[in-house]
This record gives sequence, structure tokens and C-alpha cells, in this order.
Amino acid sequence: MFKTLSNRLIFSYALLIGVLSVSLFVFFNSLVYNTNISIIENEMGEKSRFLEQAFLEQKGTWPGNRAAVAREAATLTKIVELRVTLVNPDGSVFFDSEVGDASAMDNHLNRAEVIAARDDDSGYSIRHSSTIGTDMLYYARKTPGFYIRLAKPLHSVDENLAKTKRAIALFSVSAAIAGLLFVVMISRRLTRPLRETRAFAEEFSQGHYERRIQNYSDDEIGLVQRALNNLADTVKEKMDGLVSEQNKLAVTLETMTDGIALIYSDGTFGFTNSAFSAVFGYAGVTAGRRYFEVIRSRRINARLDKVSGKNMSDRFEEEFSDGRVFEIIINPVSDSSAAVSTLLVMHDITEKKRIDRVKSDLVGNMSHELKTPVTIIKGYLETIQSSIREPEMCMPLISRAIENADRQNAIINDILKLHRIESSGDIERETIDLQAVIDGCIGLLSAKAANRKVILSAEYQTQTKVPGGNRFLAEEIFFNLIDNAIAYNRENGGVTVTVKRKDKNIICSVKDTGSGIPKESIDRIFERFYRVDKSRSRATGGTGLGLSIVKHSVELLGWKIAVVSEGAGSEFIVTI
Ligand code: ADP
Repeated sequence: MFKTLSNRLIFSYALLIGVLSVSLFVFFNSLVYNTNISIIENEMGEKSRFLEQAFLEQKGTWPGNRAAVAREAATLTKIVELRVTLVNPDGSVFFDSEVGDASAMDNHLNRAEVIAARDDDSGYSIRHSSTIGTDMLYYARKTPGFYIRLAKPLHSVDENLAKTKRAIALFSVSAAIAGLLFVVMISRRLTRPLRETRAFAEEFSQGHYERRIQNYSDDEIGLVQRALNNLADTVKEKMDGLVSEQNKLAVTLETMTDGIALIYSDGTFGFTNSAFSAVFGYAGVTAGRRYFEVIRSRRINARLDKVSGKNMSDRFEEEFSDGRVFEIIINPVSDSSAAVSTLLVMHDITEKKRIDRVKSDLVGNMSHELKTPVTIIKGYLETIQSSIREPEMCMPLISRAIENADRQNAIINDILKLHRIESSGDIERETIDLQAVIDGCIGLLSAKAANRKVILSAEYQTQTKVPGGNRFLAEEIFFNLIDNAIAYNRENGGVTVTVKRKDKNIICSVKDTGSGIPKESIDRIFERFYRVDKSRSRATGGTGLGLSIVKHSVELLGWKIAVVSEGAGSEFIVTI
């Protein structure tokens, strides 16, 4: 109830008004009482002097004739309208206007007013009279012969007092109500800016950074309000900056291909990017989950368990059962609290590993491929050396040595070609005519085809102009495909090249009637130096690099290649 400033103000003022009203009430009460008493006292003083004077004028009765005095007193009592008691100097009563037999009354010498009159000529006292049953004011006056004592019941004073009390009470209550209303009004007015300031502070702290104090008061609170609004502007500016930085960071982390996760010291995720969820194929919300619920790798979890929350780092490689390889980097992240979080970065190095493997295989294959003709040439040369005097025998050996030298030359040429295609970043794009390219290749290979009794034919079912192509690469593609179609064909077989349109694409097919490609080799024929049948490839003068050149050229042009070979014959389909 007293938690608000306005209530406290109202309560304090109400208390003050209450205390003031009560004090006022008590003060006026005693003022009225005392005034009334002193009026009655004066009245009694005057009436006692009047009685003394009246007794003095009755010379005959004064002062010895008590009976005459009592008679006179009985008459005068009616005039003064007070109780009159006459007391002898020894305290005995010889007249009382209210009591018939005054001599039976108590000795009055010890009455307070009589004692005061004995010492100071007059005195008064207020006592409760059990005879009348009310408070009485007693006044005593010393005369040369006896004490005149007057008494008056204080009914009238009490009545006056009651009236005054009512008036004061009415006034106090009215003043208190008016005062309270005034205080309520003032306190509401005074605390209105405080209430507005409080509402602003509450809303602002709940994240409503646009909220400002609208109505300034023109006092000290107004100055505070202005300062708070300025503070809010600064905070908003900083928050906007922070939010924008945070967004930038979130977008950066989200677009990164590396999987990133922040793990709190209690083992729950604070943040993960989508690459991280994708690594583990996790589709749910990771925030708040424990890391081992998402990371399905015992080894990673064990390494994490070892270092997390301990200000330690770790770095290792992990190969998943599906063949993916990741480089995993674990680093501690300290924040303002004592707890240490862990940042987990998962860098996919599958492709790098594959390239490393391919490179190492390539070096092995290349050395082997180049070494074979050299060994053969050396063998022939040694035989020639020992048979130098028999030219008829040497001639075929020299021809074979030259054939192997040509083979090695062809391999080196293909390696260089492949290297050139692989390392060319941006190729020069031009509109090419597929018909011209394919007809050119057929022209170059017609002798070889005739040699093997293979019939070449080409069919163009659509216009063959292709924008964004490259003539050199297109020639490499179709030369190698037609060359293979001839080389791996049967005698009296055929090679058909067809160019047609399917939807928005141009489909080029090189189809032969050869031996076909075994199912298990289809995925591997584009690898460098891969041959289904080594001896046949060698016999046809193949280098094992033709289809690799085709594959890289197709990729560089943004085209696609597919192989269909089911039993007899093969079909290579290039989609442009
Ligand atoms: P090569 O120089 O040995 O022909 P390629 O890279 O051109 O090397 O081809 C790889 C292998 O794919 C060949 O050795 C061959 O076994 C197989 N191949 C390629 N084209 C055909 C085809 N048209 N028919 C059957 N087998 C083929």
C-alpha cells in the first residue's frame, strides 16, 4: 500500500492532518473549558463580594449572629442562584442552601478551596459531588467572620464544551477531508511524471527501444526525463549497431560451408549453422540440445568430452563411414562469465583427400605408363645392338621401337593436353557449328575407320549452331568419342553420330556396334589411365586418357555426358 510515492505522500499528509486536528481539538477544548471556568470563577467572586457586602449591611447580624446570617443567606441564595455554604473558621458549617441541617455536615476546613481561601483570601477547586452526581466548581472567600463558599454544577460548562467539541470536530473533519483531497490531487500531479518515467523504463528494458518519454515536466524530473531520453537514443544506436553486427555475423556463419557449433560448458548447443546440421543430417532445432544427441560420432564426442569447458584445444581428422572426411578444430571460447564454451569447426576435406589420392595415383600411373614403352624400346635397342650385323632382323625391331616411341609421345601429348584443359580457368567462348566440328573429326578418322572396316555416318536433325562453346574443346570431345567408337568396334561395324533437339537441349549421341562396356567399368572409364582391356587399348594405340580429356572438356563447357552400354555396343550421349 505504501510502496508508491503518492500513497506515501497521502499517508504522511493524512497523518499530519490527523495530528493537527487532534491537537487543535485538545487545544480548543482546554481553551473553552478554562475560559468557561474563569468566567464562572469571576462570577462567583463577584457574587461572593455581593454576599459579603449584603451581610455587612445587616449590622445587627454581623458577625456574631449566625442564625440571622443563615436567614439572610437563605434569602440571598435565590438571588445569586448558586449553592451557598457558610463555614466557621474552625471548619464547621452553619449554613448550606442545599442541606437542611448544616451542623450535621462534615468539617470543611480541609476542603481545597477553603484551604486556598485561608491562605490567599479566595480559592477554588473542582470536584465531583456525589450528592448531586456531577462535577462542581467550588469557590471560597474568607470574610472577617467566616468563609463564604459558593458551588455551581458544571453542567453548563459541559454543555458548552460539548457544543464546542462538536464544532471543532466538524471543522477538523471538514479540514481533514479538504486537506486530503488537496494532497491526493497534488501528489497525483507530482507523481504523474514519475509514473510516466517508470512506464518508459519498464517498456524500454523489455526491448521496446523506440519508446520515449513524451511529456516533459518543467522541473527537476523533467531534466531527468530529458537525460533518460538522450540515454535511450544512445542505447538504441548502440543496439542497432550490435544487431546489425550480429546479423552480419549470423549471415556469414550461415553461408560458410564449414560446419560451426558453439557448445556451452553444460554440453548444450548455443549456436549451430545449417552446414553443421547438414554434416550430421540433423533436421531439428539444435539450440538447447546436448551435443551427443546431434553428433553421431563416438570419437568426436569423446574428444569433445575431454576438452570442453577446460580451456583446451584439439585438432584431428575424422573419416565417416560414408567416406566423408572432416578436419575437426576445437577451441575454447571464454566469455564474461567464468564458464568456458567450446567452438567446434568441421571442415570438409573429402575432396582434398580425393584429389591427394588421385594425384598420388596419377604419379604412379604416369610413371608406369611412361616406363613401359621406354623398357620396350630399351629391349629392342639391346637386341638391335647384338644383331647389328643382320640388318634384315634389325629392321622390324627398329619399327617396333619407333612405334613405342610414338606411343610414349602420344601419352605425353595427352598428359599435356589434359593439363592444359584442367588448368585453363576461363575459356574463350564462341558460337560453334557442331556439324562442322563432327564432320571435321569424321574426316580425320575416316582412314582409321576404313582400315578397320567400320562405317561412319552422321545425322543432323536440328540446326547445329551452339553459342557459348569452344571449338578446340568440342573437337577434343567428338574426336575422342568417335576414335573410341572405331577402336572398340568390330569389323564391318558402324558408328552413328546423331545431333537432335530435346526440349531446350541439344543431344549429341555417338553410338557404335562394338563390344560394349561391362557394367562394373562404366563408372570408371573416365578415370585417367583406366582401361577395360589393357592389351586391346594398347593394340589400338590408346593412351587411357581420351575419356578423361572428354570429361574435363565437357565440364569446362558446362555440358553433360552419359554412357549407355547394355550388352552389344555403347552410346555416349553429350547434352548441351
Ligand atoms: P583409351 O585410350 O584406352 O581408349 P579412353 O580413356 O579413351 O582410353 O577409354 C578408356 C577405356 O574405356 C578404354 O580403354 C576402353 O576399355 C573403354 N572404352 C572407351 N570407349 C569405348 C567404346 N566406345 N566401347 C567400348 N569400350 C570403350
